[in-house]
Amino acid sequence: MKQVKVVVVGAGVVGLSAAVCIAEALPVCSVTLLADKFSPDTTSDVAAGIVFAEEYPDIPLERQRRWFQDSFEHLLAIAQSAHSPEAGVSFSSGCQIFKEPPANKTPYWSDIVFGFRFLSERELNRFPCHTFGQAFTTIRCECSRYLPWLLKRFQTARGHMEQKKVSSLQELGRHYDVIVNCSGLGSRAVAGDGQVYPIRGQVLRAEAPWLEHFIRDSDGNTYIYPGAQYVTLGGTRQVGDERLQVDRRDSESILERCTLLEPSLRRAWLVGEWVGLRPGRRNPRVEREVLEVNGHGRVHVVHNYGHGGWGVSVAWGTAVDTMRLVRKCLQELSLPAKL
Ligand SMILES: Cc1cc2nc3c(=O)[nH]c(=O)nc-3n(C[C@H](O)[C@H](O)[C@H](O)COP(=O)(O)OP(=O)(O)OC[C@H]3O[C@@H](n4cnc5c(N)ncnc54)[C@H](O)[C@@H]3O)c2cc1C
Repeated sequence: MKQVKVVVVGAGVVGLSAAVCIAEALPVCSVTLLADKFSPDTTSDVAAGIVFAEEYPDIPLERQRRWFQDSFEHLLAIAQSAHSPEAGVSFSSGCQIFKEPPANKTPYWSDIVFGFRFLSERELNRFPCHTFGQAFTTIRCECSRYLPWLLKRFQTARGHMEQKKVSSLQELGRHYDVIVNCSGLGSRAVAGDGQVYPIRGQVLRAEAPWLEHFIRDSDGNTYIYPGAQYVTLGGTRQVGDERLQVDRRDSESILERCTLLEPSLRRAWLVGEWVGLRPGRRNPRVEREVLEVNGHGRVHVVHNYGHGGWGVSVAWGTAVDTMRLVRKCLQELSLPAKL
């Protein structure tokens, strides 16, 4: 039986999740994961990796809920298994605090995470500048471990890897039956998408083993996320800023803001500073397209990029959608999805 040649462009959390989903669910496909950067050099490696989300403005809530739920259930199974330490996926409890109560106090994912509730007045006394808070238990997915773990899973499913920079999707059309575009910020160039923009994020990592609970200011700028080895302190959300070098003033501001929320951080040891560029877009693009390739006819493309600040939280859900869209491509190519 002829194998269908599928290439997934991008080896961040979005591309690797899609590559694993396709390789495991559609054995008729021979899947190549192609990227210019692999872990530990992707944006995903910089992410704090805490799993919850803000709403994307124009994606039907039902679809966002499915993305979140599929991702949560997938990560929950890992967190509850013996793979948890190697995959860097574990439970994390804490709170999100607001200076003013939000219009919607109960986000769409509140019944998917565990133990969602509002903070009591007594708990809020700790945060004198904030008037409202949500407490819950979710999952923290540390991509510096999770991506290598996913890569092994992809190789077990007979996936191939290639390190290469592509300048356009068309250039792949001669060699593959289906192209899956998970190139994040790279989609500006490879897909010519002018709606994609960088959102610079800088974080610090510190040793503070006494901290167990996360705290996130709802403005998205300040957060303290304890993990297995270190605490991630954030951050920045600088729209349109593409600097990848560490900014000393940003580091000072992060430390000052985090210490205001958690004074014991004065005793923490800083172990490093990291910068990543989130792939900003008003909404993620998860859809099919047919591209004309000069002298070669048409090629099927499935896009999956533009997850902004929540790519870790919804990557598996969008990967499941992507796999289903690839299956539709196979049907149009009159190829069986299963051998
Ligand atoms: C500081 C910070 C904190 C964050 N915290 C969280 C969090 O707590 N929770 C959460 O859910 N999300 C968080 N995020 C967001 C999350 O990191 C992103 O949404 C996610 O990493 C996007 O994944 P991606 O795979 O689309 O992109 P990337 O990780 O950037 O991967 C893109 C891939 O495409 C490849 N590529 C691009 N262009 C080309 C090309 N021309 N040729 C070949 N390959 C190409 C790259 O090499 C790379 O492999 C955070 C981000 C930052 C920066």
